[in-house]
Amino acid sequence: MRSLIRPAIQSLLLSDLEKELHPAYRAQQVADWLYRQRVPSFEAMTNLPQQLRTKLTEKFAFEQFEQVRVLGSKDTTQKFLWRLRDGNLVESVLIPASPALYGTRSDRRTICVSTQVGCAYGCKFCASGLEGWTRNLHASEIVQQLIAAESASGENIDNVVFMGMGEPLANFDNLMRAIAIINAPWGLGIGARHITISTSGLAPQIRQLAQNPLQVRLAVSLHGATDEVRERIMPVNRKYNVATLLDACDYYATRKKQRITFEYILINGMNDSDEQARELAKHCARVGAKVNLIPYNTVHGLEWSRPPRVRQERFHSILSDRHIDATLRREKGHDIDAACGQLRLQTVRSDRAAVADSISAS
Ligand code: SF4
Repeated sequence: MRSLIRPAIQSLLLSDLEKELHPAYRAQQVADWLYRQRVPSFEAMTNLPQQLRTKLTEKFAFEQFEQVRVLGSKDTTQKFLWRLRDGNLVESVLIPASPALYGTRSDRRTICVSTQVGCAYGCKFCASGLEGWTRNLHASEIVQQLIAAESASGENIDNVVFMGMGEPLANFDNLMRAIAIINAPWGLGIGARHITISTSGLAPQIRQLAQNPLQVRLAVSLHGATDEVRERIMPVNRKYNVATLLDACDYYATRKKQRITFEYILINGMNDSDEQARELAKHCARVGAKVNLIPYNTVHGLEWSRPPRVRQERFHSILSDRHIDATLRREKGHDIDAACGQLRLQTVRSDRAAVADSISAS
């Protein structure tokens, strides 16, 4: 495995590049090569003097992924598995018609981006938490998921959701740096309102995010309306309980003058009761949030199941009757394991199985 001692050039902001490069217009030239021309190396930046290209090569790494697997087709949800420079695997999911809640048109392309290798939060419904946390992604590795997915699919991405592997707010600094690059006119130029951060509910970081002037959207994974139920699904609730989380959401919504989305995965017999729906309605009314109801997506190795459609609709109607804006989704990509972390997990396990096979055969 190669080392990551040198930072990748794609982790730098334009202001960082301007400090590195003289005269300063060279910074804009480098940004053009990276984010407009999308060249694969410093050597391809042909309007830079050779001496400068050599200096950049010595000082910085050039972020590039190896595409390990792709599932799905252009007209459906596509799921990509990338190998990073240090050999770790991350995945990104490209979704053709975006969910209505993210305020996008049906012709837009949404990418679901990972922010960590693995995840420490261990939500019980999620494949990413099954194998624990390995490391944070660098800003360059977050940004490169968009560039690599556009290149592999031939599609233009105009909507970004940080909802892949990892807890985005646990990698706060790299996340904010990546968002700055994704949002900047010199970078990928995607508007802040088309960028959504989805968190498992890290209350202090939600407050920290509220201080940031960028109008990115916030989605909070609730998945349980009381501490008793939420704790069984999301261990993070022991650290930041429902009351603490709602206080932080209220602060964010008030300060940003923005509507939060609560994500709520409906799990059969776990969190889909009438009582949970009524409690959820109260929380939404308090924070002014809308709700995205997601029928549970089966994960290999986990026992839970999705409620029957009639129960899903009953839960939805309890919210609607209380004038809560709630969407009942049909999970896209169900057939290709689009839930976060599943593709990586399968590949890591099959890699291990292959290694185990080869050891036992030798
Ligand atoms: S849902 Fe998100 S925070 Fe929870 S374990 Fe999965 S990746 Fe981590």
